[in-house]
Amino acid sequence: MNLIFLGAPGAGKGTQAEIVCDKLGIPAISTGNMLREAVKNGTPAGLAAKERMDKGDLVPDDIVIGILKDRIAQDDCKNGFILDGFPRTVEQAEALEKMGVKIDKVIEISVPDEKIIARLSGRRVCEGCGASYHMEYKPTKTEGICDSCGAKVVQRVDDKPETVLSRLETYREKTAPLKGYYENKGMLKTVIGQDEIADTSKLTLAAIEG
Ligand code: AMP
Repeated sequence: MNLIFLGAPGAGKGTQAEIVCDKLGIPAISTGNMLREAVKNGTPAGLAAKERMDKGDLVPDDIVIGILKDRIAQDDCKNGFILDGFPRTVEQAEALEKMGVKIDKVIEISVPDEKIIARLSGRRVCEGCGASYHMEYKPTKTEGICDSCGAKVVQRVDDKPETVLSRLETYREKTAPLKGYYENKGMLKTVIGQDEIADTSKLTLAAIEG
């Protein structure tokens, strides 16, 4: 089962992808996490991406498509995967098709902008494994320490309020057109993001199975 999770930054794609991938036994692939890892390791892709990521702009298609292509060629993707944060442009969606990747469903998680802004200000991510937390909705067991790997949990530079607005604008302009793109192909299912993570998971699983 090859799935795409679509939605604005902070809609809960990553959180739901982590939950659903455990249930379905397929990996969740976050291009954002892979890019942050590349930045941390100072790879050529990371060096090219850093400035744009910090500003909340998209990283050029060729860089992201290259990273994604290598990742889905790995063994653990044989039975399927969840793409979280890819595609983010129609060009990226077309690139997936050209790679011969068949997508079964596109799940859009829809959350109003006011909620997005509040959610992102409380979001924290693990510097080590990229797991995501929220100060209120999904706190770590020990403050500031990742439950899964024990590394430090921090606020992302691009989750600061001034960058969030520009990321939402980028989403509206470049990524939201993908809703129509996949709707026309009869692949889109929309889930309304709930306040409780578990409630959104139930709706997401129902949308995948339905
Ligand atoms: P995310 O963790 O999905 O919010 O992504 C963080 C940042 O990484 C984004 O604001 C972009 O700068 C970059 N990024 C992640 N995925 C993509 C993508 N598919 N295309 C372009 N840029 C991306």
